[in-house]
Amino acid sequence: MIPFLDLKRVNEPYESAILAATDRVLKSGWYVLGREVETFETAFAAYCQAKHCIGVANGLDALTLVLKAWEFPAGSEVIVASNAYIASVLSVTLAGLTPVLVEPDPQTYLLDPTRIEAAITTQTRAIIVVHLYGRCCDMHPIRKLAEQYGLKILEDAAQAHGASYNLKRAGNLGDAAGWSFYPSKNLGALGDAGAITTNDDALAQRLRALRNYGSSKKYINDFQGHNSRLDEFQAAILSAKLPGLDAENKRRRALATQYLNGLRNPEILLPPADQIEQDVWHLFVIRHPRRDQLQTYLRERGISTDVHYPIPPHKQRAYESYENLSFPISEQLHREVLSLPLNPSLTDAEVAYIIESINEFSARVND
Ligand SMILES: *Cc1c(COP(=O)(O)O)cnc(C)c1O
Repeated sequence: MIPFLDLKRVNEPYESAILAATDRVLKSGWYVLGREVETFETAFAAYCQAKHCIGVANGLDALTLVLKAWEFPAGSEVIVASNAYIASVLSVTLAGLTPVLVEPDPQTYLLDPTRIEAAITTQTRAIIVVHLYGRCCDMHPIRKLAEQYGLKILEDAAQAHGASYNLKRAGNLGDAAGWSFYPSKNLGALGDAGAITTNDDALAQRLRALRNYGSSKKYINDFQGHNSRLDEFQAAILSAKLPGLDAENKRRRALATQYLNGLRNPEILLPPADQIEQDVWHLFVIRHPRRDQLQTYLRERGISTDVHYPIPPHKQRAYESYENLSFPISEQLHREVLSLPLNPSLTDAEVAYIIESINEFSARVND
């Protein structure tokens, strides 16, 4: 069986570095908000070419805390793609704001800049750009709109560690960026972890307090904050893995290229290949009109795949009030997308077998 993602195999090359890191933390006697978090924050800010990095507990908190820190009036609207991961939408409602869903570009699956303006109202305060599947959103037109209407841009960079747009790194393309280091991400911890990057000094200072009970000085609380801290163990593990990220992304690109060159099935729609070098291929997502049939066929051939995502946010029970909204592009994407295995531990031979299997697949039209 070729697993969709074998995290044990992904982390194997880092085993001795991780053990050294965890040993160091254990023996330090200091486990929350200490030197390891600071060291990782400095390294990750530099990696993203951003001025500040604030470690937090997870990616959802990273997004939510930024939206809270901006202190928009209650009920303010935030634009987000209708095919985003649920966390992007949840962050808006958790911050007491209203998500306004906008359809993605059917070619890139990313927020469609030409559809944003029609969704802007007098209540709109921010746009969340989700760099979905590892490719950056088309930032130039989005930034122009944000400037024109005085909107903040929040990057959801949870799938885009190391991705770039016009030679600038994700994490440095808007007013702030939320990161997740969930174990399956391109830079993954061994548990939950997240961060925020920004170039805004005042915002960074406020976020440092917000993640820690709203306190900058012990027992002095300036804000009604959260407990959302990156812990020392995860920070030390992330520091051990960060130096390998570029090589891992390079390996992902090579495997993506192998797929792009090898897949020849006319029923399959391939992901956009015009920015192979800037994309970090968090996922390799193809489309097929009979996706479920293809997924079953691949499983029978020993290949596990996944679907990102089967149900769009507006069709989730959690957002019942959106039930009657219609986002035909998203709905079609959710029916057709299929993520093939793609991670740095995969071998060329495994990818060749997956390609061969897909090229031999022919859908039964009546199912
Ligand atoms: C993983 C992910 C998140 C949430 O991150 P957590 O650390 O699981 O909270 C948010 N947005 C996107 C696009 C993600 O892929």
